[in-house]
Amino acid sequence: MNLEVDKDRLISEIEELSLISDAEAPAVTRIVFTPTDLRARAWCLARCKKVGLMVRQDAIGNIFARWNGQDPTAAAVATGSHIDAIPNAGKYDGVVGVLAGLEAIRALRQSGFSPKRSIELILFTSEEPTRFGIGCLGSRLLSGNLAAEAAKKLMDKDGASIEEVRHAAGFQRELETVKLPAGHYEAFVELHIEQGPLLEQKQIPLGIVSKIAAPSSFRLFIEGAGGHAGGVLMPDRRDALCAASELILGIEHEAKSSGSTDTVATVGICEVFPGAVNSIPSRVHLSVDIRDTDLHRRDSLISAVDASCQAIAAKRGVNILQELVNADAPGDCAANIVETLSESCKKHGLTFLSMVSRAYHDSLFMSRIAPAGMLFIPCRNGYSHRPDEYASPEDIARGTLVLAETLRSLAG
Ligand SMILES: [Zn+2]
Repeated sequence: MNLEVDKDRLISEIEELSLISDAEAPAVTRIVFTPTDLRARAWCLARCKKVGLMVRQDAIGNIFARWNGQDPTAAAVATGSHIDAIPNAGKYDGVVGVLAGLEAIRALRQSGFSPKRSIELILFTSEEPTRFGIGCLGSRLLSGNLAAEAAKKLMDKDGASIEEVRHAAGFQRELETVKLPAGHYEAFVELHIEQGPLLEQKQIPLGIVSKIAAPSSFRLFIEGAGGHAGGVLMPDRRDALCAASELILGIEHEAKSSGSTDTVATVGICEVFPGAVNSIPSRVHLSVDIRDTDLHRRDSLISAVDASCQAIAAKRGVNILQELVNADAPGDCAANIVETLSESCKKHGLTFLSMVSRAYHDSLFMSRIAPAGMLFIPCRNGYSHRPDEYASPEDIARGTLVLAETLRSLAG
């Protein structure tokens, strides 16, 4: 039962899917439930059906493509990732995990393997937070990490609620039906590009993830007082942007002095109102993203930001309002999945690095309801979320082979 991955077929599928995009090639933009995203989903569905998989979609649009095992009632072994892409992104983030999962299933079928447990490919809805401000929407709902009631309150920038948007996309059932019980899956494995430089630097072809960092994000609304840039003298100002600047540098300072390089903090959005050259900024909206592998350290940083907000607000006479988007605990990959991944690498004579995932993925939420693990492949210069994101066909094929081998072991 020799496993053979068809590298050329897989690469040509990655290329083909990358052309279903709202940005000009090589950039990829696919925002959840836009016409382009719906076309890409249809393209994937057709591919899954062609392989003979049974396809189901839930109320948030997660796609499940199942290869029934000898015992269809036994908990299935799942793999998968996402196909949505932030504006001006690359073609490999998420997509590799989906299309390599499909290729792994094809390779297993061709090898004559007949699994005891069913094998399921999952395409998670909206892993990227672009439209609704929260990442991993599909896997959060599926794992019960986000309640249906809370999800219904999410809105996009144009004020459309998630209910309106998903209904328009053709998903009518109640959001409450998305949640799956613990034990629904025997195992979950996600293949993903590293989105960091370590594997490439160390020239190691594969990474086996032991831990996924704890992400959190929140919004800060700073309200000061506007006025004429000439008329209001410096002692009388309550400039919201100056307060925001002090806060941004404070956040950077706190992250740098946490005592660990695992602590990272980013202010990625700064919107200034009214945004005129001769007007004092009266309002600023910041988005803050804080991550760490250690929950206690991550939460201490959040408390430090809290304290800075209060101090800066008092000093500068502005109001600072905080709105939490998410504060998730880190995820541990399951020992049995890590072990199976290592054995699969060894079986094919491939070296691997044990590593931490600093980005979070659908695996973080799958790990709450099933033993989960992740396999990383190198990406050039560690680049991701940009058009020049690149993973070599050889690295993708190696990852797919190890994924297939792992699914074979787990599904028995
Ligand atoms: Zn991703």
